[in-house]
Amino acid sequence: MLGTSKQDEQSRLPMQGIPQPKREEVLNLPRVHISNHPVMAHKMTLLRNKNTPTPQFYQLVHEIGALLAYEATASLSLEKNSIETPLQATTGYRLAGGIGITPILRAGLGLAEGFRQVIPDIQVWHLGLKRDERTLQALEYYNQLPHQVDMQVVYAVDPMLATGGSAIDAINILKRRGIPRISYIGIIAAPYGLLKLSQTHPDIDIYVAALDESLNDLGYIVPGLGDAGDRQFGTF
Ligand code: URA
Repeated sequence: MLGTSKQDEQSRLPMQGIPQPKREEVLNLPRVHISNHPVMAHKMTLLRNKNTPTPQFYQLVHEIGALLAYEATASLSLEKNSIETPLQATTGYRLAGGIGITPILRAGLGLAEGFRQVIPDIQVWHLGLKRDERTLQALEYYNQLPHQVDMQVVYAVDPMLATGGSAIDAINILKRRGIPRISYIGIIAAPYGLLKLSQTHPDIDIYVAALDESLNDLGYIVPGLGDAGDRQFGTF
């Protein structure tokens, strides 16, 4: 008789029966920054709405990326920079060292563009990680990371921190390149993925716009916003 094995069942519903931490349990993890800005809350509601059309969704991802960039870059180091204004010489500041951003393809693209509106001379290092829908494991299929790196900080950006698999892999890849300081930037985190990422990489800062309730059996964040890649690029 043809039947479905336990393994088939588990790969169709990868989060079914997997215990998840509650939101309250991960709210105060060290180095985790959850935005509490009212403009962010306003834009997040527009973003989550299923009736928001693709062009507006993409625009909102840019705007949220810029707001997250503003929050995440607040602790960057500066160096002195002497200039002349039209009136006199003065000493100002510039960001010390290079800054890199790694958008995890493809959903990280819109967020990275928003980030670039705040820091235009950032280096963009694309990284293709695809989630295997059955096992939720992240597979690397594209890597444009440079071999020579001398950066103050690199930001790994991916809008949805769901199981944490892609984020953990991306940070592993950046660490193997010898990046001294890495931060993760996302739009929505699930408690499960946030805890995993924070426990696996306790030495990074994590910035998200919102922390949601949980993952459903399929591994989607709820209430969430659906598939961040499909909603940005109109591929339904
Ligand atoms: N990826 C998405 O795009 N959405 C989710 O809810 C989870 C992972």
